[in-house]
Amino acid sequence: MPSSRADFSSRILLLHSTAHSHLPPLRVNLPHTLPSYTPILPGSAVGVLGSGQLGRMFAIAARRMGYRVHTFSPDADTPTGQVADVEVTAGYEDLDAVRRFASQVSVVTFEFENVPAPTAAACADAGVPVRPDGQVLHITQNRLREKTFLSQHGFPVTRFKPIRDASDLRSALGDFGYPSILKTAGFGYDGKGQTRITTADQAASAFPEPLLPSPEPSHVLEAYVDFEREVSVVAARSLDGSFAHWGVIDNTHRNHILDLSIAPADVPPAVATESVEIARGILESFGVVGVLCVEFFLTKSGKLLVNELAPRPHNSGHLTFDAAVTSQFEQQLRAVCGLPLGDTRLLCPAAMANLLGDLWKDREPNWRAALAIPDVKLHLYGKTDPRPGRKMGHLTALAATPREAAQLALSARNALLVSK
Ligand code: AMP
Repeated sequence: MPSSRADFSSRILLLHSTAHSHLPPLRVNLPHTLPSYTPILPGSAVGVLGSGQLGRMFAIAARRMGYRVHTFSPDADTPTGQVADVEVTAGYEDLDAVRRFASQVSVVTFEFENVPAPTAAACADAGVPVRPDGQVLHITQNRLREKTFLSQHGFPVTRFKPIRDASDLRSALGDFGYPSILKTAGFGYDGKGQTRITTADQAASAFPEPLLPSPEPSHVLEAYVDFEREVSVVAARSLDGSFAHWGVIDNTHRNHILDLSIAPADVPPAVATESVEIARGILESFGVVGVLCVEFFLTKSGKLLVNELAPRPHNSGHLTFDAAVTSQFEQQLRAVCGLPLGDTRLLCPAAMANLLGDLWKDREPNWRAALAIPDVKLHLYGKTDPRPGRKMGHLTALAATPREAAQLALSARNALLVSK
């Protein structure tokens, strides 16, 4: 069993950061005595459920620190599998294969939250720690469960109502008005399963009466938030309860998909402090061990509302790979292995621009032109099929100010389209 925060006394280390000068000092609790659990040390094998780019960057961080990485997913030659030591290709429902996979590693983590809960449970049954635990996965893979959990624990969320059928929708629209956002309760990400409802006619066609009444609400209706901007806090919590974060990150979405992230975000100090404290509270309420991202809407009146949680490293934290002392991926490894958390200080302001498959539409992107900008780093995920909207990679730009970093990242991305 992991020891609780109260099991040992802790001293507080205050880390000062120039990049976070508007934030309070980062507090990392360092234990005086060794915790009672055994850390999983370099040389051990770590298992990753899922095989996308998040697993790939996790695997790169883990291999750099001397760990072996096993990945499990239904696909072969995956972004994670290409850099892992072992790639297991089997369905998540194949619980024998899941148990075999788990028996060969010292800890299991996941890189996307839509791994079925029984898959995580099968790993735990095989006697291997699953971090974060399956309960976090279960709650965060369903918007309704997630929003209910958050509001019951006193965190600010967008107004929402469970929707089972067209009559629920009509009555919720009566409360929220138009526009409102209808979202599927499960398996939604990057705006998938999301409809903006602007008229009663549209509502009627968006949600035909089901043939059978469903026991569990299949959708959630959210009041539309006319936000000023979107920000996120990527944070980590270790087995001993230590907490670390990378400050507030500014995010711009295009077609519901993250387009550009900038750190540190230019928000008032009180907003920065509040968003970090909300993130801390959420990680503690869940008892998360690992990295979790909280995505917020910042309303025009300066109010923070939690939009979504991701119980894993997040796209908005990719810039930490190049810009922070410890990246979100290394931190995930440290947390799930029971090691001390690393320093999250940003070495300089940074921006990240996603590279979607659309960039490949006419020809291979002009890599040389983008890489001619020396402070830009290219990350590609090893995907061979550049479909529109598919995340193929990203660029990170480092600069003296967040604004310059954003301009540099966007210039580099534009350069990809310059004819060779
Ligand atoms: P989600 O899949 O819930 O993260 O939504 C993707 C994006 O859609 C968000 O980042 C917002 O830009 C937009 N969005 C989602 N929900 C709302 C809402 N209730 N009000 C306004 N915009 C929203």
